[in-house]
Amino acid sequence: MYFQDRYLSEEQRMMRDTSRQYVDNVVIPFIQQNRLREWDMDPNARLAPNILEQAEAAGLRALCVPDRFGGIALDPASQSQTMAIIATELARGDSGLADKLVQNWKISVLIAQFAPEHLQEYWFTRYMNEPQFLMAHCLTEPHGASDRWLPYNVPEINMDTKAVLEGDEWVINGRKQFISNGFDATLYVVYANTDNSVGMQKGTSSFLVPRDTPGLEVTNCNETIGGRFMNNGEIVFDDCRVPADHLLVLNDALGKAGIYFRPGKVLVAAKSLGIGVGAYEETVKFVHDRVQGGKPIIQHQAVALRLADMATRLEAVAALLRHAALAVDENSPDADALCNMVKVFASHEIVKVCEHAMELHGGYGAMLEVGIEKYMRDALINLHSDGTSDVSNFKIVRAMFPETSGKYAG
Ligand SMILES: Cc1cc2nc3c(=O)[nH]c(=O)nc-3n(C[C@H](O)[C@H](O)[C@H](O)COP(=O)(O)OP(=O)(O)OC[C@H]3O[C@@H](n4cnc5c(N)ncnc54)[C@H](O)[C@@H]3O)c2cc1C
Repeated sequence: MYFQDRYLSEEQRMMRDTSRQYVDNVVIPFIQQNRLREWDMDPNARLAPNILEQAEAAGLRALCVPDRFGGIALDPASQSQTMAIIATELARGDSGLADKLVQNWKISVLIAQFAPEHLQEYWFTRYMNEPQFLMAHCLTEPHGASDRWLPYNVPEINMDTKAVLEGDEWVINGRKQFISNGFDATLYVVYANTDNSVGMQKGTSSFLVPRDTPGLEVTNCNETIGGRFMNNGEIVFDDCRVPADHLLVLNDALGKAGIYFRPGKVLVAAKSLGIGVGAYEETVKFVHDRVQGGKPIIQHQAVALRLADMATRLEAVAALLRHAALAVDENSPDADALCNMVKVFASHEIVKVCEHAMELHGGYGAMLEVGIEKYMRDALINLHSDGTSDVSNFKIVRAMFPETSGKYAG
């Protein structure tokens, strides 16, 4: 089911198997050992360090790091497809952990593409030597998120975060919120306005900002309903100065980030699918073991109908995911529409899959010690990641009908 061998290259099959072993041997035992651990209100205490160390050992942190720095550079012709396969496997174990690693992969792609060679060498070397090293992508601000995704492209709605070149340093001021890995990242990619005379599509730049830069302060870990092993954070930049060479893309950062945005949506869908697969697998076991009315509940018709519905939705998500990931890798004209379609479709379908899992587990579905409710909480997070469903649907229509669609902003 889902990513069957017939769809995979030899390399993808090996990576899927490695990820699955890591999840079965390391991640799932860790999650099952103490289901209350995700509720520890000390964000630093939630995930045991050995989980990322073992991910490192399995090669899962090195994806998208150029091979000259010891990474595993994926074939660009199938990069999004391969990342989707691995993210699905990881989210089957824990979607927060999958998110931690997915952010690292996506930002590695950006750094490899846009950072000068000496910074690539410095940061990739550190990244490869520090298993707990995380990266974060800072776009969203208190006063602007959907406006950024659409984008609402007029000067009045530019980013509040500003960067000004003073001598040989960029000075950054502003605030970013809801940032995945934002609480515990070592390195941030920050988007800031650099030209207020134009809209954000032509006036937004991106920067590499190390966590220990004076003026950068992590002000909060946002406690979330799901994906709780990824620490979402809030960051303030107060006269935060980075050397001029830390500029990644001048003024066209949103356009150039296409290499990141499209795979990003595919990966949200992949994480959704992984959550759904986990919920389904647990449900399959339960309906065979649980006896009511004198027989295993799978033999009750209503249970069978729900199980069939779960499996069908998972197959449909997996099929669209493969199709969208291929379109992104091929950079085909329908890639924009498809990557948004699969993000929206997968997130809603998997919530329905989790609803069936909850129903079929009866009262057990509501118990923290059992863990079925965790799948539902983790699934809900993906409805809003990388843009809300409504905003993503606007983007689908705009991609399909560029001449006649509305702007859907302002
Ligand atoms: C778990 C999680 C992880 C995240 N990680 C990151 C990250 O790593 N980096 C990052 O930069 N951001 C991140 N985000 C932020 C995320 O991208 C935003 O939350 C999302 O884009 C929605 O923005 P908002 O919350 O400000 O909602 P708003 O933009 O305020 O939207 C509120 C409502 O208004 C609707 N709306 C907005 N504009 C329009 C319009 N023009 N027409 C019609 N309806 C409209 C929306 O659809 C929504 O229903 C994350 C969010 C979550 C929940």
